[in-house]
Amino acid sequence: MYKATINVLKQLEKQGYKAYAVGGYPRDLYLGRKSLDVDICTNATPKEIKEVFKNVKLDAMKYGSVTLIYNKVRFEITTFRKEIKYEDNRRPVKIEYINDLEEDLRRRDFIINTLCMDSNGVIIDLLGAEEDLKTRRIRMVGNVKKRLKEDILRILRAVRFATILNFDLDPDLEKYIKKYGRLVKKLSYERKKEELDKIFSSPNVKYGIDLLIKLKLDKHLEIPKLRNIIITSSLLGIWSQLDVLEIYKFNNNEKKIIKQINELMNKDLLANENLYKYGLYVSTIVGEIKGIDRKIINEKYHSLYITSRNEIAITYKEICKLLNKKPGSFLKVILDDIESKIVKKELINDKKVLKKYIINNYTSI
Ligand code: ATP
Ligand code: MG
Repeated sequence: MYKATINVLKQLEKQGYKAYAVGGYPRDLYLGRKSLDVDICTNATPKEIKEVFKNVKLDAMKYGSVTLIYNKVRFEITTFRKEIKYEDNRRPVKIEYINDLEEDLRRRDFIINTLCMDSNGVIIDLLGAEEDLKTRRIRMVGNVKKRLKEDILRILRAVRFATILNFDLDPDLEKYIKKYGRLVKKLSYERKKEELDKIFSSPNVKYGIDLLIKLKLDKHLEIPKLRNIIITSSLLGIWSQLDVLEIYKFNNNEKKIIKQINELMNKDLLANENLYKYGLYVSTIVGEIKGIDRKIINEKYHSLYITSRNEIAITYKEICKLLNKKPGSFLKVILDDIESKIVKKELINDKKVLKKYIINNYTSI
């Protein structure tokens, strides 16, 4: 990632533009953390950026920002800008391209996100980011009240960065988050969920949840049950306890798992048929919520004779041959029956045993 970043910066510079890695990548590099992608800021306009990277795949061109995939690394290249007018406490509606790095840094959210790296790998710190990274705190760039009200997503971003990095919120920032926290209601549920997902899947999730509660954001985010949940290793375990399936937007897979967790909560988790039906992933989450030792669940699950239907030791073809019949609806009846008996350990999953059982019970079917 480092080499790819240097190369991208050099290519822009070769054409006479200024270019710096900014935000997450230099910040994480400084902290010794892994980044997923790299944000670059430059005085080249999106059209000019496209000219520089003619031969490379340019994914999308949003709002003065170009996505470039280079050596499998995702670069978000954004033209230096001033954000002039914000609407509805979210996203700027008017921007102006500028030529100056420092001014670009001033429109950014937190001081720790203003650290830059140039094409020689030299760190450039115009607004005191290193100081905040050392003292482990999240401070807003500029006037806290104004910058929070401009874009209310910054409230959740502040809590997210504090959680993930295990940093403190600057007292002034905390004060205004408390004051304007109710405005998070204006954010779309997609944006709110995106930020909460990142908080809930952090190893520091306990700190993040405590922060949300301390700042009274649980109420404004319509997740009052946050106070009483048990933290699980999977974020879906957390979401399932918040009871917001009808409000927040989940994809189909997430919905399915949350429903399964809620269903299994009211059943005997250690019953073989339930371990089989819900599988190890959902069972482990429910185990965490119910306080059942993970080792016990693991052992019981791995002692099941089968963990899915295709592990049954006899195939439908063999059953047909055995009964000398053509495939038909009787197959489902037999397979359902032997599956259930194997899961309950009333039958051993062995071809000979199953054949004998089928002959004894189904020859007249
Ligand atoms: P990560 O990518 O690890 O989540 P990041 O700091 O790179 O963290 P991005 O969302 O990728 O965050 O944004 C890149 C940079 O753009 C940020 O570091 C910040 O400087 C700026 N930025 C992003 N969102 C905002 C915002 N809502 N208000 C002001 N600046 C922002
Ligand atoms: Mg980023």
